[in-house]
Amino acid sequence: MTSSCDIAVIGAGVLGLSVAAELRARGRGVLVVDPGGPNASSVAAGMIAPAMESLLDPWEPDPVGRAAVLRAARDLWPEFAGRHGIELIRDGVDWIGPDADGVIARLALLGFAAERTERGVFCPEDWRVDPVKALAALGQGVERLEGRVGAVRVKGEGWQLTLADGSEVSARAVVLACGTTFPELPEAVMRALGDVHAIGGRLAFAKLRLVERPARFVGGYAVPLGEGTVIGATMEAGGLLAEASGLQDTLLERACEALGLAEIGPVEWRMGVRGATADGLPLTGEVMPGFHLALAPRRNGWLMGPTVAGVVAAAF
Ligand SMILES: Cc1cc2nc3c(=O)[nH]c(=O)nc-3n(C[C@H](O)[C@H](O)[C@H](O)COP(=O)(O)OP(=O)(O)OC[C@H]3O[C@@H](n4cnc5c(N)ncnc54)[C@H](O)[C@@H]3O)c2cc1C
Repeated sequence: MTSSCDIAVIGAGVLGLSVAAELRARGRGVLVVDPGGPNASSVAAGMIAPAMESLLDPWEPDPVGRAAVLRAARDLWPEFAGRHGIELIRDGVDWIGPDADGVIARLALLGFAAERTERGVFCPEDWRVDPVKALAALGQGVERLEGRVGAVRVKGEGWQLTLADGSEVSARAVVLACGTTFPELPEAVMRALGDVHAIGGRLAFAKLRLVERPARFVGGYAVPLGEGTVIGATMEAGGLLAEASGLQDTLLERACEALGLAEIGPVEWRMGVRGATADGLPLTGEVMPGFHLALAPRRNGWLMGPTVAGVVAAAF
């Protein structure tokens, strides 16, 4: 079976769906191809967190410059969320841990407001979304095809996607937004992807509400989600480790200590793989005529969604 579309987006994570929603809003014909099921975007905690990411994961040699990039990415969110029907939760974040005055001073240096609280620091600058609900909102009205793309080849002046079941899709342009697993691609595209690497991550989903707003602590975070709480996350270089129970135990111990709990109670572990580049920022741009990338936002896929969508959509 062969179908055709104007722009084929490969991958229905936050980047693929943000790009698709943005292109659709601009009147372009878009088809998203994805096999379905959970992905890094759906299991993520959904934090839009320029302040805490800049504080806890400072990017040398210019942490202040990187903080400005992350803050600018966040500032696109209110308008983006409003236009795509996403609930943006602006309840800020607590730092529960040592050195409250030092944390406030470092946040100020990075350009973020914060104030002292009984347990540490409150910073109103980080926001969040419910990832599953936000993906549903982004996908609203976007045409989708369930399937895994096995190969993408040049065809005439456009592109041909061959799916794992043998069906084909021809498209005038392609946006590759498939995380860290790639179909067979032209060599020029593969060269551009040389930098992309995988970082596995696990989160514990607790049934109980353990925090009323997101909290960061040494080595982890707790974020309210629905009726429960997400506790995250491990960072597993190269992808998900075969054996990560030690990391999981440490994460829960740190959460108990920070939140002053004897135990977290029953949790369900979920996992995802983040794509990352050497400079920690997403990989976007047109690498061959009509072939665009929307990949590898590292720990900040939700934060960077509107930025990547804007960059890719502006190229059409
Ligand atoms: C544990 C964890 C917690 C996180 N928490 C946060 C957070 O709080 N805030 C934040 O900003 N970021 C967070 N992140 C990072 C963020 O989730 C990722 O950066 C982001 O989800 C990456 O989105 P993506 O669209 O690139 O990839 P993905 O979400 O992985 O989506 C890629 C999609 O492509 C599909 N696909 C793959 N191969 C093919 C193929 N051949 N054909 C068709 N489709 C294909 C997959 O099925 C998948 O649906 C977290 C990540 C993890 C793992």
